[in-house]
Amino acid sequence: MSKIHIVSNRLPLSISREEESFELSPSVGGLATGMRSIYKEYGGKWIGWPGLAKDDLTEDEIVEIDDKLVTEDCLAVHLSKEEINLYYEGFSNNVIWPLFHYFAQFCDYNPDYWEAYKKVNQKFAQKALETVDDGDIVWIHDYQLLLVPEMIKSVKPNVTIGFFLHIPFPSFEVFRILPWRNELIKGMLGSDLIGFHTYDYERHFFSSVRRLLGYEISFNEIHLEDRIILADAFPMGIDYDKFENLAKDITHKSLQEKSELHRELEKYFLVSPDRKLILSIDRLDYTKGIPNRLHAFEKFLNKYPEFRNQVSLIMLVVPSRDEVEQYKLLKSEIDELVGRINGQYGDVNYTPVWYFYRSLPFENLIELYSTSDVALITPVRDGMNLVAKEYIACRVNQSGVLVISEMAGAVKELGEAIIINPNNEDEIADSINQALTMPLDEQRRRMKYLQSRIRRYDVFKWSGEFIKGLKKVEGIQQHFLAKRITSSLSKELVEKFASAKKRAIFLDYDGTLVGFNNDPQAASPDEELHKLITKLEENEKNTVTIISGRDRETLEKWLGNHKVNLIVEHGVWLKKIGEDWKMLDNISSTWKPTIRPLLENFVDRTPGTFIEEKNYSLVWHYRNAEPEQGELRANELKDELRNMIANHNLEIMEGNKVIEVKAGGINKGIAAQRFLGDDDYDFILAMGDDWTDEYMFRELPESAYTIKVGLKKTEASYKVESVKSVRNLLKSLGAE
Ligand code: UDP
Repeated sequence: MSKIHIVSNRLPLSISREEESFELSPSVGGLATGMRSIYKEYGGKWIGWPGLAKDDLTEDEIVEIDDKLVTEDCLAVHLSKEEINLYYEGFSNNVIWPLFHYFAQFCDYNPDYWEAYKKVNQKFAQKALETVDDGDIVWIHDYQLLLVPEMIKSVKPNVTIGFFLHIPFPSFEVFRILPWRNELIKGMLGSDLIGFHTYDYERHFFSSVRRLLGYEISFNEIHLEDRIILADAFPMGIDYDKFENLAKDITHKSLQEKSELHRELEKYFLVSPDRKLILSIDRLDYTKGIPNRLHAFEKFLNKYPEFRNQVSLIMLVVPSRDEVEQYKLLKSEIDELVGRINGQYGDVNYTPVWYFYRSLPFENLIELYSTSDVALITPVRDGMNLVAKEYIACRVNQSGVLVISEMAGAVKELGEAIIINPNNEDEIADSINQALTMPLDEQRRRMKYLQSRIRRYDVFKWSGEFIKGLKKVEGIQQHFLAKRITSSLSKELVEKFASAKKRAIFLDYDGTLVGFNNDPQAASPDEELHKLITKLEENEKNTVTIISGRDRETLEKWLGNHKVNLIVEHGVWLKKIGEDWKMLDNISSTWKPTIRPLLENFVDRTPGTFIEEKNYSLVWHYRNAEPEQGELRANELKDELRNMIANHNLEIMEGNKVIEVKAGGINKGIAAQRFLGDDDYDFILAMGDDWTDEYMFRELPESAYTIKVGLKKTEASYKVESVKSVRNLLKSLGAE
């Protein structure tokens, strides 16, 4: 069975230095919980940084730590203080984190950070490569390791790689700011499956892939030259049962068994039965919208004075990076705001904001979730937000209201919550009022839905679905690779060719014999191609036909000196060697003046596009348009054309960055079939790259060798990767 390995910045264990040795203790975070079951069950390793700087350890201590970690199936990537500083604090937290959360103004594009990021990513990849075998799965996590997928894939292409991004992926307009944007995207594309928390992050990623690298994306598949990659949304869940069970436990505890915090909370409610608590929990971070929340709470107390003395906000802020300037400033801003609100609205019996700047033991978190009437979660940007889900899981009697920002990834699953814009303080103030006055049955109705959803898609389901996705992509790739011409198949083809007496060879031109060019008129045959064709036509057993969507004039100009047949305009015209052009069917072009104005309108509206007029078709080219706009307009045009051509014998053909309208009833398939007529060819070969060639693949006899250029879905019996592979194959046939 193939193993599943995990790679993340931190190992799922904390290591602490005790008097004589080192102690390992498991982490309780969501990722560690979700992944532990996976890598243990599938016999893999977890690769990550153990959390202690290498400079503080002797060689012997490093060996001791490594030995201890091996017993937990963990492999350590040891990092120096400088590496941590530049790769982790620097590039990860001072470039990617702010940029991906739309705080571009906080980014520091220091090239030293980037150099360290590459170097440390390479260390992680190297460590993984030491243990990963062909056929294994590697699941890499998060923004610290964006380059690792490609670093592993380029060395071990037969390893299946999953990547999950735990933070948002920003819109292209933001992502493009990054000096190293192409490198990061290419790094991620080393994966076979890329997971995001939400569909929005996924589509932002697609948009960057399309615009920066120009790859085709069809549904959620990215078509690389030699591979297909899937991207999908997998909203991360929590260990629901653990939260629910602990929340149930604390309701049964006697007074003596209760924690001090719990007793304090209960005392608060003793003052008046109408008292209410609002809870917020987050790490100290500018993405969490903590000042907004305080401003809104202040507005609420001002606008709804009846709640003064009755409602407190418990705000737990977990210290994080508070030696960094932006975080120091944020901390002082929070301190000041809390002071101001408490100064203005508090008295000896009433503290409006209970502010804890520390982390609390797990049990206390459960108590806070269980006792608070409202959870107020207001990030200005948050990849997911697990606190929201934990609050839901702890509401065992189904009371309680969640108020959550529309900028948190979690909101996509939490439609029954009260959803706010974190920048609209008035709206938040009103929502707090709405939450506090919500009737109990309404609270329960909403909470029931929220709970059933979060319970079902918990962290185990999340990791299980991702692994399922990885297996699915393996299947898709196998399917796509199945038809690829291997060296043994190509040998067989050459042998069949050699033993045949009468051979028909149909070759599409653009995308098959030559690559695509921004200017279609510039794609004339090069020296190598002329030689290849000459070699083939010299052999009298061969009948070579170039079958293309091009117009007569161009192909005749380019290939007229060769002893080849030409079929052009997708089968409208045929020119046999030494004969004149003949029309294969009586075709009309009287429709052109009706359709042309529509295409002209699209040219006017889409910079970089143009119309090509052929005898019996009109083509709108959008290769030079800005990619997303081009795709968008192409879809729009197809739609309008479809309406226009109804009841007319016209066809819309979608080629590679072109939309072509042509007379119906004739295509490359019909043309090739007619060309073959009753002649008894004992070897037929057809090669083409786009879907207009699919007609040919479909119509030719089953014994024909039909070959698709590229890895897309096809009716052809085989695939080759590129124009270069077509030429190589033709070379071996020509050498016969
Ligand atoms: N948390 C914790 N100790 C605390 C406060 C919070 O372990 O004192 C946990 C909390 O239970 C949650 C996590 O920290 O699981 C925060 O996750 P979230 O997705 O909300 O935010 P992140 O910090 O990952 O951006």
